[in-house]
Amino acid sequence: MSFLTGSGRSGEKIMSYTAELGKIIKQTKTLLQAELDSGLELPEFKPPAVNKVPLPMPLPMPLPMPPSTPVTETLNDLKNSIGDCRRCKLCGRRKNIVFGEGAENASIMFIGEGPGMDEDMQGRPFVGEAGQLLTRIIENGIGIKRDQVYIANIIKCHPPENRDPEKDEIEACIPFLKKQIEIIRPKVICTLGRIAVRELLKRDFKITLERGRWLTYGNIPLMPTYHPAYILHNPGNEKKLKGEVWQDIQKVMSLLGIEVKKSS
Ligand code: SF4
Repeated sequence: MSFLTGSGRSGEKIMSYTAELGKIIKQTKTLLQAELDSGLELPEFKPPAVNKVPLPMPLPMPLPMPPSTPVTETLNDLKNSIGDCRRCKLCGRRKNIVFGEGAENASIMFIGEGPGMDEDMQGRPFVGEAGQLLTRIIENGIGIKRDQVYIANIIKCHPPENRDPEKDEIEACIPFLKKQIEIIRPKVICTLGRIAVRELLKRDFKITLERGRWLTYGNIPLMPTYHPAYILHNPGNEKKLKGEVWQDIQKVMSLLGIEVKKSS
């Protein structure tokens, strides 16, 4: 039995509705034809107007940005890429960028905080009074030439009045030092003073409590010791501080298999 035709009383009802619908359609057609015959024009169909929504403009492709840390292979390439650096406000009053100096294949890298006035004038790291003390530590203590190690700082331009480097200055400059470490790949890093170790390891550091204990930068052993300037600024304590630095330097020598001379 088909559910379209139905059965019994409901089937009869459907049949009568169908007949009625057929009649209505027939009458409508007749009426329409009569209207058309009398010249009436049916309205033209137009699709409803739709408010045009502008399509979003495609976003411009981002321009390639220069990498914040230049990809370079040699220290010379890196130095050239720094150029006449204007990446932080220290560029305004500096006389020279103090890039760093020493052997590209140095086993030991000394890292201080930033150039002083003498360094700014000469464009070389650790050349003032504190630098001369460092040179004596290297040549008379370790027993190697200064140009066999590499010496650099956290920042490369002299901060006015020898103040500590500021956060934005360090952030702008430290990628260059990190790249230098990457190129040199020293067997050991010796940091000089609190700021150098704090910025390389990115943690607070109490130099008087924590110096002389091995740490690591990446996989490179790192020995934190006093900055030579700190020894010079504490003449009353000079002997004690020099003795502590010498203990730290002997640990570095021992790691590198350098014999400590009795006369040192
Ligand atoms: S301190 Fe470093 S980042 Fe700042 S201007 Fe000098 S080289 Fe550039």
